[in-house]
Amino acid sequence: MSDKPEKFIDENGLRLDGRRVDEIRPMTVEMGVLSRADGSCYLEWGNNKVLAAVYGPRELHPRRLQRPSEALVRYRYNMAAFSVEDRIRPGPSRRSTEISKVSGEAFEPVVMKQFYPGAVIDVFAEVLQADAGTRTAAINAATLALVDAGIPMKGLVASCAVGKVDGQLVLDLNKPEDNYGDADLPIAMTEDGEITLLQMDGNLTADEITKGIEMARKGCEQIFAIQKEALLSKFGTADEEELLKE
Ligand code: ADP
Repeated sequence: MSDKPEKFIDENGLRLDGRRVDEIRPMTVEMGVLSRADGSCYLEWGNNKVLAAVYGPRELHPRRLQRPSEALVRYRYNMAAFSVEDRIRPGPSRRSTEISKVSGEAFEPVVMKQFYPGAVIDVFAEVLQADAGTRTAAINAATLALVDAGIPMKGLVASCAVGKVDGQLVLDLNKPEDNYGDADLPIAMTEDGEITLLQMDGNLTADEITKGIEMARKGCEQIFAIQKEALLSKFGTADEEELLKE
């Protein structure tokens, strides 16, 4: 692992990777990359590479797990053994179990589960290359995979983290900022601005948390725009694509 940098933000206000404090890393998405899944999305965000696949709605077995009035949504976050510098031991860990739980809950208000009683909707998020912010990248990919699978949703979910380095709040932490920074605050929200995931590692004052949430909100707005562009290029008409460019 590299050593702690002396400074994270230079005299021009730029970070080690050249971004401003309120700028997210470049993000590209490709939908429908897996022919066997009902919906899928491959997403790159900075050096993160994530693949999301959705299966369902399909009948849930064993039947005792079925919910009589709605579908069960299962979310599994997993890091590939080769996704980090040192090999990760395959199989669930405390970290991946926790991330799977909170990430699945991030979709709670948007997925219209009531249409599919007794069914299951499985969301798999596989991190192929990790570089800080993988849970947020996975949520952004999973949203598009859910739409690709035709799951009825009230809207999209976007996610990004805010952190603190050199005493300043920064949007979408890169790896050195994540490793050596003072705080990491991953957030997910709906298009209505309802926060559906909020975790925190490190130290922030109450005022910094309020400002950090506002910063994450702006990051999520940029991500919603990227997600919508991907959706329009896959499902939209030429007229709708023109409208988006204006
Ligand atoms: P997130 O990826 O959502 O930011 P963490 O803050 O837990 O989650 O992890 C930050 C980064 O640390 C990851 O993106 C990854 O690059 C690295 N990392 C996480 N877990 C491991 C691990 N078990 N081994 C090596 N690197 C890891």
